[in-house]
Amino acid sequence: MAEIMKVVTRNMDVPDQHTIAVAMQNGAYEQLKKALEMTPDAIIEEVKKSGLRGRGGAGFPAGLKWSFVPKQAPKPKYMCVNADEGEPGTFKDRVIMSKDPHLLVEGILIACYAIGIRDAYIYIRGEFVEPANILQKAIDEAYEKGFIGENILGKDFTCHITVHRGAGAYVCGEETGLIESLEGKRGQPRLKPPFPAVVGAFQGPTVVNNVETLANVPRIFEHGADWFAAIGVEKNSGTRLFGISGHVNKPGVYELPMGTPIRELIELAGGVRGGRKIKAVVPGGSSAPALTPDQLDTQMSFDALGAIGSMGGSGGVIVMDETTNLVCVLTRLLEFYAHESCGQCTPCREGVAWLKKIMQRIRRGQGKIEDIDLMLEVAGNIMGNTLCPLGDAAAMPTRGFLTKFRAEFEAFIKSGANAEGTPMAGEGAVQVSVPAAE
Ligand code: SF4
Repeated sequence: MAEIMKVVTRNMDVPDQHTIAVAMQNGAYEQLKKALEMTPDAIIEEVKKSGLRGRGGAGFPAGLKWSFVPKQAPKPKYMCVNADEGEPGTFKDRVIMSKDPHLLVEGILIACYAIGIRDAYIYIRGEFVEPANILQKAIDEAYEKGFIGENILGKDFTCHITVHRGAGAYVCGEETGLIESLEGKRGQPRLKPPFPAVVGAFQGPTVVNNVETLANVPRIFEHGADWFAAIGVEKNSGTRLFGISGHVNKPGVYELPMGTPIRELIELAGGVRGGRKIKAVVPGGSSAPALTPDQLDTQMSFDALGAIGSMGGSGGVIVMDETTNLVCVLTRLLEFYAHESCGQCTPCREGVAWLKKIMQRIRRGQGKIEDIDLMLEVAGNIMGNTLCPLGDAAAMPTRGFLTKFRAEFEAFIKSGANAEGTPMAGEGAVQVSVPAAE
């Protein structure tokens, strides 16, 4: 069975680690001191060498992203820390911010020094009241100690960090939606290009990094890029914080080397409740197409999951046992995505709403067999035709469920059962008998 490897979470069980006194006893800000003795270019090279990839969803190499920011820019540069964490099934960044906020702050400061940024904004999900308060307290403490502010540690490096609370819109987790919202506008994604690295917040070059990505940075400087690159699997280095939920005995956040097979994570999480069989597993937040039981030996890496038509996404793993009614699951997902669509582009605004309505009809027992192909066609017309990835985020799980579990959807439609208002799984969930595959 896989073993937990505590890199980012190393000090998270230490009482009061969120306070600067305890965090400093455990080495907080020592890597900032080290980094400030290096040149910015050397820092970027070290992060590139580590192979650190963004932990928010896309898995883009962090060092490369930093290097895209023009060195000389007519406008100030900005760092936006994406702490919006709204992908259903994902709950790991809030743990970092609550348990070890100084690790994140230190990572932000190292990144800002490397890129030449004086202002960083942590855009945090509005519902995260407690993590926001803890983070603010940590920032205040770091200001008092001279780790944030003017001429940090007596060096020619000034950096300010501001916590900005969002209002709870999923689309503000998309980098340009986040930037618009930060600027005080409606959180609607921008057309790209220009990319934020060139024109981002307040028209200045901007780096948007996820919380977990930045929390890894001090560890890279503590142990070296080669050490980090040796963890995990090729091109997917380091560990990952997997948030596992659903029908497992011990849901929670588990830090494991990248590339650990999904089956081993499920075992670590105590296995499936009641010893039931698994029906489906979402491997990387609800946008990621679900896996079938025969795919559970797949490595949890960006590349391995991509190769089987799913994705590592945000690291949120949702386990569904054999009692799960997938008609209810897909309906609920589409209700979410239709609600969260910002409405700017037609394929997402109309298409996702159509998908939702068709699924609601099917769930009420009024579906037609042709609805499955109709939904696949609508989802196909959404894919790749929208301004931001939200359209794809709705279309991908739709295609995944309808193709991999088509027999269950057909059996449900033929049964004429009405599952509206019933549980999605377990006792009371509407079950249909699915004919065995030929
Ligand atoms: Fe808005 Fe959806 Fe278009 Fe994204 S894909 S910009 S959420 S309408």
